[in-house]
Amino acid sequence: MNGLNLTEADTNAIKLAISEGGDIWNSSHLIPLKRKIKNFYRNVQGEQCCYCRKSSNGEFNMVLDIEHVLPKGRPEFKKFMFRIDNLSVACKRCNMSIKNDDISFISGQADFSTQPFLSGNYKFIHPNVDSYFDHLSYDVTIRNAQTMIKYTAVNDSVKGQFTYGYFKLNELEVDSFSKAQGAQEMANVSSSIDDDIAREIEELLG
Ligand SMILES: [Zn+2]
Repeated sequence: MNGLNLTEADTNAIKLAISEGGDIWNSSHLIPLKRKIKNFYRNVQGEQCCYCRKSSNGEFNMVLDIEHVLPKGRPEFKKFMFRIDNLSVACKRCNMSIKNDDISFISGQADFSTQPFLSGNYKFIHPNVDSYFDHLSYDVTIRNAQTMIKYTAVNDSVKGQFTYGYFKLNELEVDSFSKAQGAQEMANVSSSIDDDIAREIEELLG
């Protein structure tokens, strides 16, 4: 489904990591492969988190980590640890704070034995088998010092709505608004300080 192919060196590194056991994913043998996977998906996702679409470029300056859609921390999904279809890049908020090892996004009818990466197995927008913007649109408006974020379900998309709820995307909309208000209040404070200093300077000047 996509253009990332594992080389023989990659599969050998995976085999070596598995043979050594323990925390396979964090094996030093996998550092080059993980860098390759991360770079690939950062490019595919346009430097955005695959779930909330916040960007590692520009004003958000976020770190994107490799994301396992079916969590590698769940014994039943460990086998998909290196399946490219199961990987993407996500921000820490979506990846660690919200998703972590949760599997409530899996559809009740899901069957992972034959075709694990079918869209219907997932209630949210799957980073690889669904097309995000067919389900949810992401609008960022910057006006002067204010950043406004808005998510809209496209044609009442059920996956779009589920993704919005599951990843609490409303908090990002609220956040951006309250931060904008906070910035406004800061601006008021600093302008009042400036007034005081201005008065003092005027007094010193006589
Ligand atoms: Zn995110």
